[in-house]
This record gives sequence, structure tokens and C-alpha cells, in this order.
Amino acid sequence: MRKRFGLTKPDLVLIAILLIISGLGFVQFPGASLYSERVTVSVNGEFYAELPLGTDATLEIAGFNGTHNTLLIKNGRVGVIAADCPDKLCMEQHEPLIICLPNRVAIAVSND
Ligand SMILES: [Zn+2]
Repeated sequence: MRKRFGLTKPDLVLIAILLIISGLGFVQFPGASLYSERVTVSVNGEFYAELPLGTDATLEIAGFNGTHNTLLIKNGRVGVIAADCPDKLCMEQHEPLIICLPNRVAIAVSND
């Protein structure tokens, strides 16, 4: 049997499946590592709070210079549900990293 350039169709299918699984594992399903993952909040470059990703919670974050963000952790997902920054860009972001530049708030999901 002859193969051209090494990759057969089953090879490509396998690669595609692996890419999909790894992509979903990172973006959609923290899954197996859900309970070891942590949500770390920092304000103005300094540690502010740390919460487990596996426990639903809300956190009022006192941002830089009297500003506020409200963090929501639900079903292993992270989001900002309220913010008094002018651009509200943080409210459109999700894990693994949410940054609110005006309020100097950074929310990161890490597995350490
Ligand atoms: Zn913001």
C-alpha cells in the first residue's frame, strides 16, 4: 500500500479528534481537574482573593480607586456579572483570564 506524505485520512481524523478534545477540555470542560482549579483575583497587581472553581460563588471585588466588580463562579465557569468600569469589557470575558483594565482587576483560573 502506498502512502503519500505520510498522513492518511484516518490519521487526519485522529488528529482532528485530539484537537477537539484538548480544545474542549481547556475551554468548555475543566472536568476532571475542576476541583483542583482555583480562581485567583488580583487588584492593582496585588493578591486580592482566591476561590475554588468547583464551588459556585459570587464575590464583590473592591477594585482600584473605589471601583467595583462582581465575580460569579457557577458550574465551573467564571464571569463578571456587574462592573462600574466605563467599557464593561470584563463582562464579556471568561476563564481562563478576565481583565478589567479601568478597575485594575485581574481574574485568572489556575491549576496549581
Ligand atoms: Zn471592566
